[in-house]
Amino acid sequence: MSFTVHGLPVSQGIAIGHVHLVSHALLEVNHYQIAPRHIAEELTRFDNAVHSVEGELLGLKAATASAQPHKEVGAFIDLQRMMLADPVLIGAARAKIEEHHTNAEWALVQQMESVVEQFQQIEDPYLRERRADVVQVVERLVKALLGDPGHLPPKRKDGLGTVVVAHDLSPADTIGFRDHIAGFVTDIGGPTSHTAIVARSLGIPAVVGLYHIRDLLRDNELIIVDGTRGIALIDPDDSVVEEYLLRRSALELERSKLKRLRDTPAAALSGELIELLANISGPQDVGQLKETNADGVGLFRTEFLFIDRDTLPDEDEQYEAYRAVLKGAGGKPVTARTFDIGADKSFAGKSRNEANPALGLRAVRYSLAEPKFFVTQLRALLRASAHGKLRIMVPMLAHPDEIEQTLALMEKAKEELRDEKVKFDENLPIGGMVEVPAAALALSVFVKRLAFLSIGTNDLIQYTLAVDRGNEAVVHLYDPLHPAVLRLISGAIQAAQRAELPIAVCGEMAGNADYTLLLLGMGLRSFSMHPARILEIKQQILRADLADLTPKVQRILKMDEPAKIREAVEKLGG
Ligand code: PEP
Ligand code: MG
Repeated sequence: MSFTVHGLPVSQGIAIGHVHLVSHALLEVNHYQIAPRHIAEELTRFDNAVHSVEGELLGLKAATASAQPHKEVGAFIDLQRMMLADPVLIGAARAKIEEHHTNAEWALVQQMESVVEQFQQIEDPYLRERRADVVQVVERLVKALLGDPGHLPPKRKDGLGTVVVAHDLSPADTIGFRDHIAGFVTDIGGPTSHTAIVARSLGIPAVVGLYHIRDLLRDNELIIVDGTRGIALIDPDDSVVEEYLLRRSALELERSKLKRLRDTPAAALSGELIELLANISGPQDVGQLKETNADGVGLFRTEFLFIDRDTLPDEDEQYEAYRAVLKGAGGKPVTARTFDIGADKSFAGKSRNEANPALGLRAVRYSLAEPKFFVTQLRALLRASAHGKLRIMVPMLAHPDEIEQTLALMEKAKEELRDEKVKFDENLPIGGMVEVPAAALALSVFVKRLAFLSIGTNDLIQYTLAVDRGNEAVVHLYDPLHPAVLRLISGAIQAAQRAELPIAVCGEMAGNADYTLLLLGMGLRSFSMHPARILEIKQQILRADLADLTPKVQRILKMDEPAKIREAVEKLGG
């Protein structure tokens, strides 16, 4: 029987294939007693499994390092490797085997449950999310103990691929499956989960948050994953398969055509050039600038240098990373955002628990509360500025005081470096992010203190609509086309233009082709996005008639009804 299920679209594209159910190893663990004379053997079996998973993870890391240099991916694997040496998880499970004479997999799952329960009590959402890593590592260990290599079925004669269906997938599993699967669907997960990030970076179509999908399907059933619309079609009719095969070919053709746009200038029909910049998270991403011929880096999320690790990078390590990005950019401008710590991005050194972290000590607020830490970053950035075209951007500004204090600390860092006779760019521009509605509404107080602006639509939408951007339960309320959001974005663009200050958008909206014409019509001329999105956005720009868009978008900005707005935005493309 054909049916369709709706979930969250986390990685675009279409996969057509046969269901491969990935078992939830942890639910299938038996409990049995080990005779005292066999305890030593059981411990060796346990140690061997830890060893073998360590090898698996190292192998995965090596494979990813050469094929797809994504720092986040390597960091997830390292985090899971650290867990393999953790006394609270591994040490305690071992002690359970010795003291209670239970089998290794049972001891592990028991210990995992107690660790996960402790994680559940943690306020910090980033750390709380790490419980998924604990579960995934234990799952791997249990598979190693049970001798389940998790092999995928061989290639099929009908030419269709394999679609993995799982309760949840770890980023490491996702990397392991790449090149062997057409797509995946999972019961749980959200658009900002690590697995979703990995799926996007590897280009694997995926839909998550399908609740009990694993229970509804059987191995080998036909399934279509529409990662763009966020749906899975099970046992579709021939006519639906036919339609999706055509759509998939059209998408593939579209992708190969897009590559040809690499060297085409991003000019609208009038000839006006639009700036296309890349969002990156570290030196490992800078190669993508060349691949897409981006005009520079519009957002370097520097906090990725230290989340998922235990120690903070010191000034020299930071300096090396910033310098590497500037060198890699080959003279193109690089906008480094000062650390945006807090909310969903935390690190080992941030111990404070907050009831509402998104509204708490986050981004510039955190940096100003820890001036020593902030000055270290500013010094490292200033030192790196001698090696390229650097700009510094301050996240989450809401009060003019925050920029005054930042500028004062910047002056202090400069003074120190002058005394030390260290070279840096004396005229390094300092800009700010518009991601709090207060900043968008009262932009004039920031405009006179800053050299440039960038709108962070991800947070601007979250704070305008009071919708936690990481919470899948309210994801349906997260609406970039809400009239309040559109008016804030457009108002910010106009205020910047009146002040003759450059302004960009660097949130996800900038990389979504559905919104390109709308943003152009609002007057935006600089877009910063994940490098994989640049060519598609360029294609929209090449078709854009700016003079025609302006009045149309003005009319949209006066509309109140979401359905009418959506319809009018869709029609902008003609
Ligand atoms: C944003 O909020 O839109 C943004 C670009 O910053 P981040 O996604 O890192 O919060
Ligand atoms: Mg933000």
